[in-house]
Amino acid sequence: MKKRMLFIAGNWKMNKTSSEAEKFLVDLKSKLAPFCGKLNLAVCPAFTALETSTRILHGSNIGVGSQDISAKDSGAFTGEVSAKMLLDIGVRYAIVGHSERRQYHAESDAYVNSKAKKALSSGLIPIVCIGETLQEREAGKTSNVITTQVKGSLAGLTDDEMLKTVIAYEPVWAIGTGKTATPAQAQEVHALIRKLLTEAYGEAVAEKVIIQYGGSVKADNSQELMSQKDIDGALVGGASLEVEGFYNLVANAIK
Ligand code: PEP
Repeated sequence: MKKRMLFIAGNWKMNKTSSEAEKFLVDLKSKLAPFCGKLNLAVCPAFTALETSTRILHGSNIGVGSQDISAKDSGAFTGEVSAKMLLDIGVRYAIVGHSERRQYHAESDAYVNSKAKKALSSGLIPIVCIGETLQEREAGKTSNVITTQVKGSLAGLTDDEMLKTVIAYEPVWAIGTGKTATPAQAQEVHALIRKLLTEAYGEAVAEKVIIQYGGSVKADNSQELMSQKDIDGALVGGASLEVEGFYNLVANAIK
C-alpha cells in the first residue's frame, strides 16, 4: 500500500483546440469517474482550451492545470498568462519548467523557481519538472544535474509550500521518444530527490511530497513504474491524448 495517493496528470502540449477538448473531456470524465477517490487526476490543456476544460470538468474528479504560468502578476508582459487569470477560470495546477520550456525558451532553474513561487503564493499547485538529458546521463552526471535542478528550482520554498508542490522527474531522453526509464532507473532518481528533500525539509515533509515520473508512460508500463516506492504518479504526454489509452494507463497504475 502506497503512503501517498497517486497523482496522474496529462500534459497535452500544443494539441487539441477548445472544441476538440470539449468532446474529449466529456468522454474522459465519464470513463474516469469510477476512479474517484482512488487517485488524483488532472489534464493540462493549452491556454485556449483551459476555460472549456474547467467548465466541462467542474464537479468531476479531474482537475485542470496550465502548461506554464507567468512569474509576474500583471502588466507589460506580452503573451504571458498570470496566476490570477488562471485561478479566475478554475485552474488548479500549473506545470513549470517543463524540459520543452527549458530547451526552447531557455528557462533557467532560477526562472522556474520564480514561477513556482508565484504559483504557490497565488494559490495554484505547481508541478515542477526536472530531468537530465541523454548526454548528461551518458556522462555520469545525472545525480549532479538533478541535485542542481532540485536546489535551484525549489529554492526558498517554506515547508508548507513544499508540501503543496508536486515534482515531476522527466528524463529528457524519455520524453516523446518511446524510451522509458526502467522502473529501477526511475526509482533511483526518485529516491535521490526524496533524499534531497529530506536534507532540506526533514523526513516528515519529504515523505509527503508527490514525485511524478514522466517520459513515455503508457498503459503497458504504468503499473510497474507506479509500484516503485518513491514514484507517486505520472506526468503523461502522448498517452494522455486518447481516452482509451489514458483510461488503461490509469487503470493499470492503480492495480
Ligand atoms: C511530457 O511531455 O511531460 C511527457 C512525459 O511526454 P511523453 O509522455 O509523450 O513522453
